[in-house]
Amino acid sequence: MVDIDAPLLTARTRISVMLPLPLGGAYDYWAPVESAVAPGDFITVPLGKRQLIGVVWGEGRGDVSAKKLREIVGKCDATPLPEVSRRFINWVADYTVSPPGAILRMAMTAGGNFEPPKPIIAYARSKNDIDATVRLTPARRRVLDVLADLLSLPRAELCQEAGVSSAVIKGLLDAGALVQVELPQPATFAAPDTDHAKTELTGDQLAAANQLISAVDSKDTGDSGSEFSVTLLDGVTGSGKTEVYFEAVAAALAKGDQVLVLVPEIALTAQWLRRFTDRFGVAPAVWHSDIGQALRRRTWRAIASGEARVVVGARSALFLPYPTLGLIVVDEEHEAAFKQEDGAHYHARDMAIVRAKLGDFPAILASATPSLETLTNVERGRYDVVKLGSRYGGATLPHIEIIDMRTDPPPRNLPGQANGRGANFLSPPLSQALAATVAAGEQALLYLNRRGYAPLTLCRTCGHRMGCPNCDTWLVEHRFHRRLQCHHCGYSGPVPSTCPECTTEDALVTCGPGVERIADEVARLLPDARQTQMTSDTVRGPAAAAELVSRIEDHEVDILIGTQMVAKGHHFPRLTLVGIVDADLGLSGGDLRAGERTYQLLHQVAGRAGRGTLAGQVMLQTYMPEHPVMTALLDGDREAFMRAESEARRAGGWPPFGRLAALILSSRDPQAVDKIAANLGRTAPRTNDIQVLGPAPAPFAVLRGRHRRRLLVKSGRAINLQPAIRHWLGQISVPGNVQVRIDIDPYSFL
Ligand code: ADP
Ligand code: ZN
Repeated sequence: MVDIDAPLLTARTRISVMLPLPLGGAYDYWAPVESAVAPGDFITVPLGKRQLIGVVWGEGRGDVSAKKLREIVGKCDATPLPEVSRRFINWVADYTVSPPGAILRMAMTAGGNFEPPKPIIAYARSKNDIDATVRLTPARRRVLDVLADLLSLPRAELCQEAGVSSAVIKGLLDAGALVQVELPQPATFAAPDTDHAKTELTGDQLAAANQLISAVDSKDTGDSGSEFSVTLLDGVTGSGKTEVYFEAVAAALAKGDQVLVLVPEIALTAQWLRRFTDRFGVAPAVWHSDIGQALRRRTWRAIASGEARVVVGARSALFLPYPTLGLIVVDEEHEAAFKQEDGAHYHARDMAIVRAKLGDFPAILASATPSLETLTNVERGRYDVVKLGSRYGGATLPHIEIIDMRTDPPPRNLPGQANGRGANFLSPPLSQALAATVAAGEQALLYLNRRGYAPLTLCRTCGHRMGCPNCDTWLVEHRFHRRLQCHHCGYSGPVPSTCPECTTEDALVTCGPGVERIADEVARLLPDARQTQMTSDTVRGPAAAAELVSRIEDHEVDILIGTQMVAKGHHFPRLTLVGIVDADLGLSGGDLRAGERTYQLLHQVAGRAGRGTLAGQVMLQTYMPEHPVMTALLDGDREAFMRAESEARRAGGWPPFGRLAALILSSRDPQAVDKIAANLGRTAPRTNDIQVLGPAPAPFAVLRGRHRRRLLVKSGRAINLQPAIRHWLGQISVPGNVQVRIDIDPYSFL
C-alpha cells in the first residue's frame, strides 16, 4: 500500500542554533535526519524573512512548540566550529554578561560567506594572430606590450600597468586579441620550518626558553599532549623575549599544534614579521580588522582547516576557530590595547588565559613591565615566571635623567608672534642633547602622547574655549589639516578667524603642545635635521608603518617625533636619545591605573634608547620630579613602585584585590538616562559584599551627542558579580532610547 503522507513523516530532530546576533541565546529549529547535522556545523536557517548562517549549538531546548518551529535550509561547506570554541564562546558570554551570539559573531568575521573562494580571472594575449581589421590605438598597444612581458594579469592590475580604462580591455577582448584565463589561488599558508634558522641563544635566554618549552611539552593524563599553565616571561627591554618565546612556538609546532601570538597593535609588527620569517622561513598568518575581505576569508578558512599553523593577530584573533590550538603567547601583556571596549567588553589577555585553560595548553605572557594583575598572580603562585635580567649583546640599559621643568624651563616664547606660534616646550638640556645626538650621527626620539598641534584653543579676550558640539571635550587643532578636531567623535571644523563667543578678531590662541607643534619647534631649533612624525594621523596602516620603520633603520631620519605608536616593539640600534616631552601627561584624572600605566608607557619608551652597541640616554621632562612614577623610573626600581601600587589597591579593595564592573548608561535624551540611572541606583544590590558607587556623570558626560551616566559595582574577590548584575538589570525595564553597557573589569573610565 502506498503511504501518501510519507514525506511529511520524514524523521526530523530538534536542534538549537546559535546565530551571530546579539539575541538572548540559541533558537530551536527542525533538522531533517538525513541532513545529518552535528554540533558545530555551520548551517543556513530562516529568521523572519531572512536567511542567516548560524552554528548548531546542540540538541533542541524544547522551549518552543513543535508547530512554530521552522526547518533549517541546509549545511554550509565549512569546517565545523570546534567544540572548544563553542565552550569558549559560552564562557566569554557568561563572564562579560553579553549575548553569546555577539561573541559568536567575532568567531565568524569571515564576511559571513562560506562559499568556496572564486577563481581569479586574468587576461592574456590571444595565441592567434590579431585580425588585421582590429584598430590598434596607443592604449591598446600598451596593454598588449604589458602582457608580452607579464603573460597574464587580473583586470585591475592590467589597467594600472598599462594606464588604460577597463573599456580598452573589453574592446581587445571583444576583438579576440585577449583571452580570459583562470589563475590559481594565491600561495597557501606554508608550514613554518622549526629548523629553518635557529637562533643561538645566550645562556640566560636558553634557560628561559627551556622552561617555556617544558611547559609546552608537559604531558598530563589527557590526550592534548600538554597541560594548562601560565608563564610570565619577564624580561627587560631588549633582552630578547621574542627570540626566547619563538623557541616555545617551535616546540608547539613540532607537536603539530597551532600557535596564536596576540600583539597589542598590529600596525607595529613589521619588524616582528620579519623576525618570524627569518626564524621560520615563512610568514605567519596575520589577523586584524584591516585585512581585505578576500584575504580575510582565505585566512579564516586556513585557520579553521588547521592549514595556518601560526597566527599573529590583534585581540579579535582569539575567537577564530582553531581546531588544534596548543599555545598562546600574549606579547606586551600589560598593554591597555588588549581591552576591547566596543560591543562586547573583554580583556584579550584574560580571555586568552581562559582559552588556554579550556583547551588545556600553556599560555605565555611577555612584558618588560608586567601588569599588577599578572604580578599578583605570580605572587599568588598561580602563574610561573621566567626572567631575563639583561639586554642582549652587551647593550646596557639607558641612563635616565629627570629634568625639573620648574628650574629648567623652555626658553620664553618668541616675541611678537600671534596665535602662540613660537611657543617652546623643550627645555635647554633636552634641546642641547638633541643637537649633540644629531651632530654625532645618531638618532633621537621625542615622545609626546598627543596628536595634533595643540590640545586647546581659547580666546585671549573672553576666555572662551573651543569645545566639541557633540562631546564634553575640547577640540584639538590639527595644523597640518588646518582644522579643529574632536578625538572622540571625529567632529572637525575649520579654525575660525574670530572668536565664536565675543567675535574679537585674531584673539584665538593655542595652548599646550601636540606632536605637530613639537615638530615646529624642532624645525626652528635644528633646521637641517631630518625629522619625521609617527602618529596615527601620519602613518595609516601596516604598510605605511613598515615603510617608515625601514626609513628609520636606513638612517634616513635623524629625529623621530611620535605618540605611543613609537613606544612599542621597535628596535632601532642607532637610536640613542629619548626625550619625553611631558612625562606628567596621563597622571591626572581619576583612573585607577593612571600611575601604573604611565610608568609602563614611559619605561617602554625609555627602552627604545641604546638598544645597539651605542649607549642610550633618556630625558624626562616633568613638573613633578618627586612623583613615585618619576623616582621609580630614575632608580630603575620597578619592584618598589609596583609594591606601592599594590599596597594602595589592596587598601582600597580595588582590582586585583577586589572585583569591579561598570554600568554605562547613555542616551540622546538626558532626562531618560537620568531616570534609568536613578532607578538602577535605587534597586542596586547593596550588601555587605557588594558596593555600588553612583550614578554619576561619566568622565565625559556627553560623548557623540549622548549623555552618559556611570555606576561602578565593587566587591570582594570571592564574589561572583555577574549573576548579581544580571538579576539587578533583569528587574528594570529600559526604554529603547537608553543604552546600557556592562563592562566587567573596566580599564578605561570613559
Ligand atoms: P625584547 O622583546 O625583550 O625587547 P627583542 O626580542 O626585541 O627584545 O630583542 C632585541 C634585539 O636583540 C633584537 O634585534 C633581537 O633580534 C636581538 N637578539 C636577541 N637575542 C638574540 C640572540 N640570541 N641572537 C641574535 N640576536 C638576538
Ligand atoms: Zn566630539
